Amino acid sequence: MEKLVTVIGVGLLAYVYLSYTKDSVDTALSPSNINTTYDYIIVGAGSSGSVLASRLSEDPENDVILLEAGGSDETNPNIYKPGGAPMLMKSAEDWEYYTVPQKHACYAMKEQRSYWPRGRVLGGSSSLNWMVYVRGNRHDYDGWAAEGCDGWSYKDVLPYFIKSENLLIDEFKSSKYRGNGGPLPVTRPNITPIHKMYLDAGKDLGFDVIDCNGEDQIGFCWMQATIKQGERWSAYRSFIKPHLDRSNLHVVPNTFTTKVIIKDKKAIGVECIRNGKKVKIFARKEVILSAGAVNSPQILMLSGIGPRKHLEELGIRVLADLPVGENLQDHVMIPSLYRINTTGPLTVAMMASTWNSKQYEYFRSGPWTATALEGMAFVYKDLSKKKDSGKNSDIQLHTFSAHMAIPIARDFFPVHYKEAVKDTLFTETDAIETIMFSPTLLHPKSRGTIRLRTTDPFDYPDIDPHYLEDEEDVNMAIAGMRFIEELVGTNTFKSIGIDVNSPSPFHKLCSKHEFRSDKFWECYVRHFTLTVYHPTTTCRMGGKDDPTAVVDPQLRVKGISGLRVVDASVMRNVPAGNTNAPSIMVGEKAADMIRKG
Ligand SMILES: Cc1cc2nc3c(=O)[nH]c(=O)nc-3n(C[C@H](O)[C@H](O)[C@H](O)COP(=O)(O)OP(=O)(O)OC[C@H]3O[C@@H](n4cnc5c(N)ncnc54)[C@H](O)[C@@H]3O)c2cc1C
Repeated sequence: MEKLVTVIGVGLLAYVYLSYTKDSVDTALSPSNINTTYDYIIVGAGSSGSVLASRLSEDPENDVILLEAGGSDETNPNIYKPGGAPMLMKSAEDWEYYTVPQKHACYAMKEQRSYWPRGRVLGGSSSLNWMVYVRGNRHDYDGWAAEGCDGWSYKDVLPYFIKSENLLIDEFKSSKYRGNGGPLPVTRPNITPIHKMYLDAGKDLGFDVIDCNGEDQIGFCWMQATIKQGERWSAYRSFIKPHLDRSNLHVVPNTFTTKVIIKDKKAIGVECIRNGKKVKIFARKEVILSAGAVNSPQILMLSGIGPRKHLEELGIRVLADLPVGENLQDHVMIPSLYRINTTGPLTVAMMASTWNSKQYEYFRSGPWTATALEGMAFVYKDLSKKKDSGKNSDIQLHTFSAHMAIPIARDFFPVHYKEAVKDTLFTETDAIETIMFSPTLLHPKSRGTIRLRTTDPFDYPDIDPHYLEDEEDVNMAIAGMRFIEELVGTNTFKSIGIDVNSPSPFHKLCSKHEFRSDKFWECYVRHFTLTVYHPTTTCRMGGKDDPTAVVDPQLRVKGISGLRVVDASVMRNVPAGNTNAPSIMVGEKAADMIRKG
């Protein structure tokens, strides 16, 4: 009997152990024995890292390992289902960062912290994002080149945007700015009848309806998204999944890189935690960090590359004194809710409907095939300019066709509002519906930082975006609200009952100021400062003598050989638009530079 109990006990223990190791390592992907040495080690299978690993492993003579802290992109069904994007926030696939309390912004949020989701899964943030496809403005890249990033002008980067793209929008297929032969599908998903109104209102204001990824970015445009046949196409799904059978590409999830091994100022490998053990992997040619704008600077600093004073305070031996983690730039948007007198926007009830779920399950159609982001615009602060006037755009419009200001939606969109703020926002009980307009500041002047809190790689770093610290940002945000006032005052929006003079629950928080005065809007934008999830520039690229640069225009870390950074952190400045397509472009261009030697 005693023997039987022991056998059952050991069996149970073995079962628990095996279940744990099975969960923590995706055996379908990880080769059971990874090699100790590869030509290229890429850390992070996100937007840039997936593209880079895919392109480098096109050459059979290169062997490449792609290390990812997160797991499979197939375990959470909300990843492939576009309408599931909000549910990915705070999921197991989210790093779930929070900024430090903001002095000048985020007054409506708990402790004045902004919640920063980031993807911890194959595909990185491209598996979590809202799938909007925007490349930025030509003046972004010309500006990078003018500031010393040789080879990154618009003319230089356009071929890489084109190379990635598989455009599935007939109307733009013949455009010389668009690509048809790449792995990344781009479509025009619209699911509510409201979407056309955004464009009509733009026309009412005298703007053209354009392709915001075409020749001229100024104007109103349909949403374009990395969605095909009702499913999300992350960078991982587009660039890596079709090539998992390449013998020279090892994709290794659930493996957390803790530092770069550097010998005599040369990166020779990485240390990681895999299957609960410390592992070292060595590089014949290069170590490449693609861990994103929060984690790439964290790994560099843990490895002795960063601002001398900061590293010395933590007792880290300084191998290269560089402004790692400085120059953090992020976009903020200000949500602005308006009542309408018609149905049409998405509702929580629609998303909860079994019918709609089945429609998606069997036909990949219906409300789950897209997000409620349906229309977009890029404008100057001076709204009288209706076309590219030789300068970068100032404000982006995100529209959100979803009725959210009701109690049932209280926790649907995890923004980190204070409970008391939620009590004010989500209280309406009458039958009206609402839509949301969010002006976005494209070129914030405020600069933030990523700093280590400790030398423990598992400790999240301190993220301080310094939102709205610079007065110019506040003025631009107020200009954004004035743009929305113009937009909702058009005949198109008046026809569905929008009244610019009627305050919404969101406006109540600043009711001590005269409604719609500058003081009112300043109070408002400092309360509702939402990230658009676009942190960039923390390992900024620049010319040889640029004191703000961490990497050179070939993305090589200054002063350390065999080490590059390839992700959103190397961008010179945050581009005018959403950052997934630009991060994919960075991966494409880096691969080309590396392959050319
Ligand atoms: C919720 C959300 C919505 C967004 N919506 C849009 C949108 O609609 N359109 C758009 O254009 N952009 C959007 N973005 C932004 C866009 O997705 C990102 O800018 C882009 O994905 C950044 O790419 P990246 O390669 O720099 O980093 P990521 O894609 O974040 O990749 C970094 C990868 O590195 C891994 N990693 C980090 N640290 C380690 C480590 N120590 N060891 C191993 N692996 C590590 C991460 O797990 C991750 O997989 C959104 C982002 C979020 C989070």
